[in-house]
Amino acid sequence: MLDVLPGTEPHWIEAYGRVALSGETLQFRNYARALGRWFEVSAFSPRHGHFATIFTDVTEQERGREERERLIAELERKNEELERFTYTVSHDLKSPLITVKGFLGLLEQDLAAAKPDLVRKDMERIGEAADRMALLLDDLLELSRVGRVVNPSALHSVEELVHRALEAVSGRLAERDVVVAVLPGLGDVYGDGPRLVEVFQNLLENAAKYMGEQENPRIEIGVMRREDGIVYYVADNGIGIEPRYRETIFGLFNKLDPRSEGTGIGLALAQRIVEVHGGQIWVESEGKGKGSVFCLRFPSAPRIGGDDV
Ligand code: ADP
Repeated sequence: MLDVLPGTEPHWIEAYGRVALSGETLQFRNYARALGRWFEVSAFSPRHGHFATIFTDVTEQERGREERERLIAELERKNEELERFTYTVSHDLKSPLITVKGFLGLLEQDLAAAKPDLVRKDMERIGEAADRMALLLDDLLELSRVGRVVNPSALHSVEELVHRALEAVSGRLAERDVVVAVLPGLGDVYGDGPRLVEVFQNLLENAAKYMGEQENPRIEIGVMRREDGIVYYVADNGIGIEPRYRETIFGLFNKLDPRSEGTGIGLALAQRIVEVHGGQIWVESEGKGKGSVFCLRFPSAPRIGGDDV
């Protein structure tokens, strides 16, 4: 057999040998590496020492099975993500509601005691909690739109995207007198322009927001051509991020300092947009006080609109 078909794997010869010698019939499904195909095989022995087989090419069926398994695994992962998401959303939306209920109780008491100053304060707190809830809901809506509402993909100059983002956060940059350096040679990226601006906008806003006591706040936007591809970065010399929080900061509503302004959704949004583009986002920081470098990598081939969206 090996003289005629030298690429034949031993398991085929073993099976046929058994049929030829024992007279038993066999039915099995196996992969032929030399042909790169799957076969459903029936083998029987018409005479001692001989065997005959019928092959059916089931490669498409097998590929379909593999694809189905991949999709099931993907669906399970997404379901888990959705469960975590629902938990976080309900938990975080509850907290302003608890505030509202708490202050309604106080309002009742202060009204009964005819204390107009306190009544006004209670109402203010109720208003603030309602505003916060509205903000959370707006952000959530925005998150759900990513991937659903997709602008037409095109090739964009990254420098132009960055400048549009810088314009949008100019107020915050001016507030802190941040020096911004946009390095040359950023090249182009393929994707949904307005969404990509949003990514840079979130990163720049955070870079300015988490400067801490830094006296010479500085942000640098550049590109590194590394072995693992082209990596864009937004680097700041602000408060930095401890290595153990590198992943959690991308979680929905996650904030390292609960007193800081914002809902903790900016990075989750940025991550979602980058993932919809088939790319990755991560942070590199040597730790507290050492500044942060947010990195972005996009696939070299355009992919937005693929089956992950
Ligand atoms: P938000 O800014 O609304 O809190 P984000 O999702 O944008 O939400 O960021 C999550 C958290 O990650 C922030 O609360 C902050 O603790 C941390 N963080 C983000 N960017 C930076 C940065 N450039 N430097 C230090 N910490 C950061």
